[in-house]
Amino acid sequence: MSHTIKKFILALSLLPIAWGASALQSADEVAPEAAIALAAKQDRNPVYSKDWMVAVANPVAATAAANVLENGGNAIDAAIAAQAMLGLVEPQSSGLGGGAFLVYFDAGTGTVTTLDGRETAPTAATSKLFLDAQGEPLKFFDAVIGGRSVGVPGTPALMEEMHKRWGKTAWPDLLQPAIERARAGFTVSERLSGLVTSGAERLSKHPVTKDYFLPGGEPVQVGTILRNPDYADVLQAMAEEGASVFYSGDLASDIVETITGFESNPGVMALEDLANYKVIERDAVCGPYRIYQVCGMGPPSSGALTVAQILGLLEPYDLGALGASNPESWRLIGDASRLAFADRGRYMADSDFVKVPARGLLKTDYVKARSMLLKGTKALEEVAPGEPEWDETRFWADDESLELPSTTHFSIIDRDGNAVSITSTIENGFGSRLMTNGFLLNNELTDFSFRDQRDGKPIANRVEPGKRPRSSMSPTIVMQDGKPVLIIGSPGGSRIIGYVTKTIIAHIDWGMDIQKAISSPHLVNRFGTFDLEKGTDAEMLSVPLEAMGYEVNLRDLTSGLHGIVINAGGLEGGADHRREGIVLGK
Ligand code: GLU
Repeated sequence: MSHTIKKFILALSLLPIAWGASALQSADEVAPEAAIALAAKQDRNPVYSKDWMVAVANPVAATAAANVLENGGNAIDAAIAAQAMLGLVEPQSSGLGGGAFLVYFDAGTGTVTTLDGRETAPTAATSKLFLDAQGEPLKFFDAVIGGRSVGVPGTPALMEEMHKRWGKTAWPDLLQPAIERARAGFTVSERLSGLVTSGAERLSKHPVTKDYFLPGGEPVQVGTILRNPDYADVLQAMAEEGASVFYSGDLASDIVETITGFESNPGVMALEDLANYKVIERDAVCGPYRIYQVCGMGPPSSGALTVAQILGLLEPYDLGALGASNPESWRLIGDASRLAFADRGRYMADSDFVKVPARGLLKTDYVKARSMLLKGTKALEEVAPGEPEWDETRFWADDESLELPSTTHFSIIDRDGNAVSITSTIENGFGSRLMTNGFLLNNELTDFSFRDQRDGKPIANRVEPGKRPRSSMSPTIVMQDGKPVLIIGSPGGSRIIGYVTKTIIAHIDWGMDIQKAISSPHLVNRFGTFDLEKGTDAEMLSVPLEAMGYEVNLRDLTSGLHGIVINAGGLEGGADHRREGIVLGK
């Protein structure tokens, strides 16, 4: 066991360890990081540290990131190492075949930069991509499984772009741990094996995917050592030649063949689509909340605009005085969310293709006027999009798209104060279910609206060639006086917006530490129905919320929030007990 690893364990062992799961004990034999994994399900106290911190959805990937920081690398380096490892150990959520958004605070320049590594529709895609011969939308999973749903992946290019701009550690060194782990094998986690078992039928539709996740026809079991030499080879090639190996040559041909060759539901991606992929720098979207600026990813994500709108609508109300268990707090949050989601549905999409009234949606007068709608005491009977100030005369029709949760979020801060907030995805769990060269291909194109118009009006988020599907991913950095005070984000489809907003409110207004803020029950309202997290205290709000006029729905709400608070005294980290993540720090 290396010196470095021992030190992390020491930091963690100060916390109660409530989880001695046998699943990961078998990993001791193969991986030093298994010892860290044993500490993974600490009793959900926050983790404290002084110098640096990582909060990542998987212990092995968290360790890879932590080692980079311990060896003098920066937050960007650590994020690249984490992503390379996540593609191996949490393949259902993110990887080379997917896309991601980066929100980055650079301590040297004091600026927030956002990079868009979102998947892109191929040139041959049309607005009818997800309509059948009768012009009706395909069933969701009929669209997802196969080549049709695959967008041009952005994650490899994003990793490289991040490194070119800000990286400090040599590029090959960041990929090396994942290469070694892929060759030696990693321990299949409970979550991965559970998802393979429950998703076996869909995973079996593509022989390559089936062979990997269901060797001999049986789902991989928790504790099994799974090797992925193909993935190691891809990373090795990337280590030697950069991300271009992914976008041209044999690998690009394999990707295109996998997509176009899936006969029952082929896609239209061509080699040029891969060759033309670009990471795009976008202006960060920042909205005020109390004494803070909440900064995140603008279009094609709806994340930052919607989070900022919800918080803006809530600004006049004293949520702190009302408290976390008061139904009135949730009426305000719920209806603020509904109003923001109405605007999201109508106006938000890839701003390179449709005009998005980004400024208008966050304009003080507009937000104030919408906020007045929350004045009553009952659930709003009707919620419609507003009319933000806009120089575009055409009005869009409301969007229609279904997003189901997978995805991963990681938050990292280094000893210089550089902060990384990344949400990374292949969309649905296991994406399109197509696999090539050891990685899964995304189904991100199903984040577009399947319909292209309604009553003759175009839908902003319709499929167009070269366009990026609207996202809900909300990698966020909350700033105070020009410095980051909270790094946060989550998977969860369009519920991401609710998870992130709740965590910000729980920390800022209700004074919870970051772990409590993450662990506190979810109550999410997007389109009217209030989703309350099953088996939690949220259930107690069911009767009062119903009395206010809401339809209430008890369900699992599997967020994957990973957050870091930056205080004058040090760092405080939290990881979501609903998934497998941990916090490491020193
Ligand atoms: N594809 C979704 C988005 O970009 C994320 C899916 C998820 O979080 O599970 O918004």
